[in-house]
This record gives sequence, structure tokens and C-alpha cells, in this order.
Amino acid sequence: MKAAVLHKTHDPIQIDDVTLDNPASSEVIVRTMAAGVCHSDLHLVEGLITAPLPCLLGHESAGIVEEVGSGVTDFKAGDHVIACLSIFCGKCERCLSGRPNVCLNRPVRDSADTPRVTLNGERVEQFANIGGYAEQMLLHENTLVKIDKDVSFEVAALIGCGVTTGVGAVLNTAKVEAGSSVAVFGVGGIGLSAIQGARIAGAIKIIAVDLAEHKLAKAMEVGATHVVDASSHDPVEAVRDLTDGGVDYAFEAVGIKETSEQAYQATRGGGVCTIVGVLPEGVNIEIEGLSLLSEKRLQGSSMGSNRFRIDMPRYIEMYRQGNLMVNEIITRRGNLEDINDLYAAQKNREEARSVILFD
Ligand SMILES: [Zn+2]
Ligand SMILES: [Zn+2]
Repeated sequence: MKAAVLHKTHDPIQIDDVTLDNPASSEVIVRTMAAGVCHSDLHLVEGLITAPLPCLLGHESAGIVEEVGSGVTDFKAGDHVIACLSIFCGKCERCLSGRPNVCLNRPVRDSADTPRVTLNGERVEQFANIGGYAEQMLLHENTLVKIDKDVSFEVAALIGCGVTTGVGAVLNTAKVEAGSSVAVFGVGGIGLSAIQGARIAGAIKIIAVDLAEHKLAKAMEVGATHVVDASSHDPVEAVRDLTDGGVDYAFEAVGIKETSEQAYQATRGGGVCTIVGVLPEGVNIEIEGLSLLSEKRLQGSSMGSNRFRIDMPRYIEMYRQGNLMVNEIITRRGNLEDINDLYAAQKNREEARSVILFD
């Protein structure tokens, strides 16, 4: 089957004809129908995070179950599903305390096991244990949530990472209170989802910060009340001016040291700054220690602190009710062969979200 494989950092991604193993007892084969182009894979392409290569990229995918392993009872051929990288064991201390997104014992095949994907007999890794830029995915069943069949696959795919990460950071990680003020630094697919999470939570001032005018316009469309063009304004000063000294909740959705520090500086005393973007390996964030005396908090968020089998069906219902705009985030569509062009657009931060469609 066709798959988008990264063989060497900085090289173009290749479309290879790879082979899938048979499903083990708790594994499922899914026919991929749509896959979103999320920034995290680009980090691997650019060497900002490291992982074994060659690697089949993609982690924001939805599709149809084709085959299930002998021990799988919750899924059957024909089910529509979303894949989520927050694979959980369901047994560890984190899972049992309600935080499966930070599971301590993810049920994945490791390097000693037979590889799920091979190219000419050689192991190919699956990015985030998914490898969603391929015609089929071989996954552990705890990677999947079943969804209703009336939802389009491109919408489902985006809920698989970007929407869940952005909305979940607001509702689950930061638990934004109604009536509060929020600033979102970076309004690509995840930032636009965070803006919507803030609207759903009832924030009364929602400030979008970005360098690109068209993204700021999009942010207003989905729920921002104010915008700050960071290409012409100091974003920290601008957010402070709009909020009488800083927001109650700031979110960083870019994955850059500078914007992370700006988001913290734009948070008022007693407020919470949540880093949603994936920062490159080895990059440190600097904050003034004395600022902690004002009870400001700086925290991370992994995939929107999701319990994805609960959250994703809820997000789908919010989408149906018109509270969560997903189609509006999709600004470009392409085929698997377009992957390098789509990543170039992602790197230049031209698109909110691109989606690869499979026929
Ligand atoms: Zn992602
Ligand atoms: Zn676990």
C-alpha cells in the first residue's frame, strides 16, 4: 500500500509501497479516508525532534475498520473510527486516575517485536504509533474511538489531533472559567480550536495573536473578540493593554521559545499560561522567578488532556450543534502525493489546516 515515509531528516518525504503485518489479537486494520497535516510531523522532518527512521508520518487520521484481531470485541469491519495518539493501557495509575493521555504503559509494539510496517523487509516506524499518511493503518485498538457515520472523514480526522488538542487545552487542561479573559498565541489549526474552546467555556474576552492577517481574520470568524497582529505590535504590551494588565488564561499554540515566554508574560498574576505547542528538543523556556510570587502558573498540555473516547464524541456533538466549527479550519485539501507541498505550506504557516483525502 502507498505510504508517506521520511527516510532522512530534511529530505523530501517519499511515497513508498510498504507492507503491513497481520493484526495481533488486540490490533485493528483501518482503511484511511482522511489525514490532517499537523505541525508535529514537520518537527521530525526538520530534525527538531528525533525518532528512529525511516518513519511513516501522520497522526491525525480517520477511516473505516477493515479487519480486527482475534481479541478485539469493541470494533468490527465497517465501523467509522478516529485514531488518536493518546494510546492508553487502561490499567496503569495514570489511566485509572482519569488521565489516560499520560498513560505510563502504552500498549505498542516495541523494537524487539515484529514491525507493523516494512519496506522491502526493513522496519518502518509509525509516527506516534499511528502512521496515518498511508492507505491503511495497523493500530492497537486503544488508539481508536468509534464515531457515528454521518460525520465527514475530514472533520473526524481534524478532531483526531488539532481540535482535541486545542479545545481540550482550554476545557480540560486549563479549565477556563466563564467570564474570564483568554489570549491564544498562534492561530493555526490548534490555536483556532483553542479560540473555540474559550468561546464554548464562556470567556468574555478572547484575544488571537498571530503574524498573519488572514489567520487573525479566521480567528474572528470562529470566536475571537480581539486580534493582535504581532508583525506590527509588541504582543505582550498589546494583550496587557486590552486586558488591564494581562489575561486570566494564555495559550501558546506555536511551539516556539519566544511565543511561550510572551504568553507567560501576557498572563496576569493568579493566571495560568498553558503551553500547547510542541517545542523542539533541548529548547528551554525562561521566566523571571520573581513573577511566580504573583501565583502565575506555567503548565504543559498533552493532546488537550484528553480522554479521547469521551471527548471526541462530545466534540462531534458540539460540531453538529454548530458550536465547534471544523470545516472553517480546513483551508486546503490534497492527495498523498501532495505531501511535500502541504508541508511547505505548513512550514510557512500559510494554511490553518490542510487535509489529505484518500479515494
Ligand atoms: Zn498533531
Ligand atoms: Zn495506562
